[in-house]
Amino acid sequence: MRLSSLHTHTKFCDGADDVETLCRSAYEKGLSALGFSSHAPVGKKTGLVSDWNMKDDAVEAYLDEVRAAKCRWAGRLPVYLGMEVDFISGLTGPADRDYRDMGLDYLIGAVHYLVPPRGAPFTVDGPAEEFERGIREGFMGDSERLAQAYFDAEEAMIRAGGFDILAHPDLIKKNNAGERWFSLESAPFIRRFEGIASLCAAQALVVEVNTGGLNRKRTRELYPGPRFLHRFQAAQVPVLITADAHRAADLDGNYGTALSALRDAGYTETVLFEGKSGASRWKRAPL
Ligand SMILES: [Zn+2]
Ligand SMILES: [Zn+2]
Repeated sequence: MRLSSLHTHTKFCDGADDVETLCRSAYEKGLSALGFSSHAPVGKKTGLVSDWNMKDDAVEAYLDEVRAAKCRWAGRLPVYLGMEVDFISGLTGPADRDYRDMGLDYLIGAVHYLVPPRGAPFTVDGPAEEFERGIREGFMGDSERLAQAYFDAEEAMIRAGGFDILAHPDLIKKNNAGERWFSLESAPFIRRFEGIASLCAAQALVVEVNTGGLNRKRTRELYPGPRFLHRFQAAQVPVLITADAHRAADLDGNYGTALSALRDAGYTETVLFEGKSGASRWKRAPL
């Protein structure tokens, strides 16, 4: 079967390659479609300083460049224009009105930032020191509470809506190697997985099975891990394999692993993006 790559970063944010290089590579790899999902800017809306989100003044050029690639590759490779949008509690999220006016084909909703009870927002997938400082200062040393806050934010984002694909649902595990800080295998978190899976089903969301952690050797598991993936399957939430590629070489990285994980979780099909509005937006593809 032919798979697509819809979660892709470029030089406009923290990716290494430009739009054309990524299109050529996707075409050569035989992917069925390529979607761009640069990290939406956060600066103007939140005042946060980030070196991986797009700059506010780069958005127009990003939109233009991907639209031009759509035309250049028409008939050879379907190219889609998307964004990965941060939900930052109380500050910004995919439901913000401005995204509706950009003519995007799809939005990926993602939680990278937590807004702690004390102190400034911080990212959970950044350097270990930032994560540890977040636990210590933001959550008064309570790492379980931080993990719960991550899933709280994810639920709030899903309820607010405005996006099509849920990004890396258990990104919180990235700085938790060896379950150093909390166990996502424990009953309270398994219950969270169930709650999030049924919310996704109710909102007709697609969840990505993201190989980015494996591709960049930051995790030993896909996002989501096997337990969480099984909950999505039980709730009949459709899944899309993505690479969260930050360079062309990774556009289909570890896709074999993702296919096996889907089968192990009981999935018999995945979905492919069709780019049209309405019911035909997603096409089912047997595994
Ligand atoms: Zn992300
Ligand atoms: Zn990403």
